[in-house]
Amino acid sequence: MTVYFHTLGCKVNQYETQAMRRLLEDDGFDTAEFHAGFRAAEDGVLVINSCTVTGESDRKLRQLLRRARRDNPQAVIVLCGCMPQAFPARAAALADADIVLGNAERRTLPAKLRAYLTTRERTVDIPPHTTAYEPLSIREFQGRTRAFVKIEDGCNRFCSYCAIPYARGRVRSRALQDLKEEVEALAAAGYREVVLTGINLTAFGQDTGSSLADAVDITAAVEGIGRVRLGSLEPDHMTPALLDRLAAQPKLCPQFHLSLQSGCDATLRRMRRHYTTAEYAALCADLRRRFSNAAITTDIMVGFPAETEEEFAATLRFAEEIGFARAHIFAYSRREGTPAAAMAEQIAAAEKAARARRLSAVCEATRARYEEALVGHTVSVLLETQDDEGRWEGHTPSYVPVRVKATGTAGDMVTVRITARNRDFCCGTVE
Ligand code: SF4
Repeated sequence: MTVYFHTLGCKVNQYETQAMRRLLEDDGFDTAEFHAGFRAAEDGVLVINSCTVTGESDRKLRQLLRRARRDNPQAVIVLCGCMPQAFPARAAALADADIVLGNAERRTLPAKLRAYLTTRERTVDIPPHTTAYEPLSIREFQGRTRAFVKIEDGCNRFCSYCAIPYARGRVRSRALQDLKEEVEALAAAGYREVVLTGINLTAFGQDTGSSLADAVDITAAVEGIGRVRLGSLEPDHMTPALLDRLAAQPKLCPQFHLSLQSGCDATLRRMRRHYTTAEYAALCADLRRRFSNAAITTDIMVGFPAETEEEFAATLRFAEEIGFARAHIFAYSRREGTPAAAMAEQIAAAEKAARARRLSAVCEATRARYEEALVGHTVSVLLETQDDEGRWEGHTPSYVPVRVKATGTAGDMVTVRITARNRDFCCGTVE
């Protein structure tokens, strides 16, 4: 029997899908991925691993679930992940799902599926998070040349707009020995780059006494691993002591995804973020001093409740000043149960969209500036995908996409001189 997965959301969710696929394969099932419009065999099982970070994620989930049921009337449909965990009653009411699970106790999926296949009794089982990290493991990251590796779960922050702490529980960290064993298996499977990820990655070790630098060093020490990349980072957790350790690790990719959210101090306070723009700018300057060609990438939210034109203008100026190598820009999304959802002066959708366009223009220009400065430089590129003309696309350590004619296989690293920059990628020649 084949179990088909569709994953919504972040790197942690994608990792957990790989881990659930492994559990099912070890239990005798075949696994694969499915996309909207997919029609499974009569006895197929569809698993939707959900995200609930924005209202839009929930809307996409409901639409996907309706289509999956319409296109696969006989299939067993499993809904799991962050949406049921954060909103159990609403998830239980989604009748198109035969099995509804949260994102805790992922290991129990095979048993719950087998039980359902025997009894055909609708199952809704969403246990609360515990204080223990749920050990899961992957042996491959199907369809990718870099492996996302989860090392932390949960968040203790409660930023005023965010539903994630309600979906993911409190900070829980993975044991370093467990991490080492997984990275060894991935290196043996040919992975050269590992992306360490978590719900609040920089909170790693708060509950166990280890530090993110320990996880980076243990990963980098595994034979065969050429690069260690970090997922999203909370600026105020990036202490000088941590930077000292990270700067001493030659395999660490100099790309730092420092979540900014707003370039205006008053808005940051309303968001309950834990830094000021001055502290953020000082951190960026410190990273650029320590890491040559450091790429600062980020997430910025526009249209937070009561964000005035002046406050938004401050964000535009700040984004220009920092000079981001890449920025994910998204409109504030009202999340039920969060303090921001109850705030007055919610911004109209059209105004949010207009602000997102204005900020994108600023950040596209800073990205172009960062990538154009690479022309003439020699960089290493991890080969990932090949087009019909044999040209490879891959990424530099600072996560710039590069296209190059090269001999090799996916996962190989080649040395490339950057010759030009186009809108979506740089071009280069192998040295
Ligand atoms: S740090 Fe803030 S935005 Fe990030 S997951 Fe935690 S509560 Fe959400």
